[in-house]
Amino acid sequence: MSMRTRRRAAPRAALTNLLELDLDAAERFVRDLGWPRYRAQQILRWLHRRRVRDIQRMTDLSEAERARLGTIARIGRLEDCQILRSVDGTRKYLARLEDKLLVESVLIPDADRLTLCLSTQVGCTLDCSFCLTGKMGLRRNLKAHEIVDQVLTVQDRLEAGERVTNLVLMGMGEPLANLEAVSDAIARLTNSSWGLGISARRITLSTAGVAPRLKHVAALGVNLAVSLNATTNEQRDRLMPAVNRVYPLVELLAACRDYVLLPRQRLTFEYVLLAGVNDTEQDAKRLTKLLNGMRCKVNLIPFNEFPGTPFTRPTDSAVLRFQSVLRRAGLDVFVRKTKGRDVLGACGQLGRLAGDPEPALLTLAGTSC
Ligand code: SAH
Repeated sequence: MSMRTRRRAAPRAALTNLLELDLDAAERFVRDLGWPRYRAQQILRWLHRRRVRDIQRMTDLSEAERARLGTIARIGRLEDCQILRSVDGTRKYLARLEDKLLVESVLIPDADRLTLCLSTQVGCTLDCSFCLTGKMGLRRNLKAHEIVDQVLTVQDRLEAGERVTNLVLMGMGEPLANLEAVSDAIARLTNSSWGLGISARRITLSTAGVAPRLKHVAALGVNLAVSLNATTNEQRDRLMPAVNRVYPLVELLAACRDYVLLPRQRLTFEYVLLAGVNDTEQDAKRLTKLLNGMRCKVNLIPFNEFPGTPFTRPTDSAVLRFQSVLRRAGLDVFVRKTKGRDVLGACGQLGRLAGDPEPALLTLAGTSC
């Protein structure tokens, strides 16, 4: 067998996926090749900034270096990206991971913002009763590069003049149940020497309330959102059993009070409004007491329905009544606009249950690319 044939036959799995490497790993990789250290940053820059999918396009490497790299490495990206477009401009991206599972990301245009909502797991560790992802169970944690690749994949498909302004880790999964990969992904996304250089102030991590890990979010420098969703421990046990049994409401709120905010930063509390369940006047009053004195704002999220759920969305006037109780108590409170419901791209609508059709078969205006 000639050298050439043997090279071509190298199994894919034997090749290093360059996108998996963080800076340390990339530096070790180039050192093993006997290359100067700065090659590592050059390679990472090509991957993250130029989003190249072909090693041969790394033109500040010599031809011989590219040829060598091509025999031992590859660029493994998300594949078969499909876009579902909502009538309101929201876009849901479904892309395939190497093990064929699907990862979902949602791009949400709003006034001068273009927010990209990233997933951190396929499925979710938790079992919140109002969330479709929770019904799927956990398929697996995403790796750091799979979180970063959601950004690259969406950027590859932006329309002329568009720029992602904000990132939210609020898609499928519980970010603090996959803390290592999430921290690594944030470090890569915010890196300004070779990464995208996204400001940590424009990134928000949302947690169902893994209390002891909140401090790690502060260390990452990103904003923290906590999904409170209930005002008594019993109610939270019913709505968010897995997380609340381990970290009950009082413990979560204590961790929030201990959370060290940067100047001008504040905590966000999310509160899904479920008709007749947690949207009463008493709930609103209890909520104001729970948050008393905290530097925070509240995002109310009227429940987004999905097939088979016992919950319903409150009327607009019920939402406004709830909001006005909080306002009167001096809280900054916003109602999150519902976006992307027609493509199952709104909060709590990500994921599919066993037996659901593949997205391509949905009767939605999907476009593949
Ligand atoms: N696990 C993280 C991030 C994913 S959920 C967390 O719990 O924060 C993102 C947000 O969507 C959370 O605030 C959650 O409470 C909310 N959510 C979940 N299901 C929803 C639904 N069906 N309708 C409206 N909001 C929902």
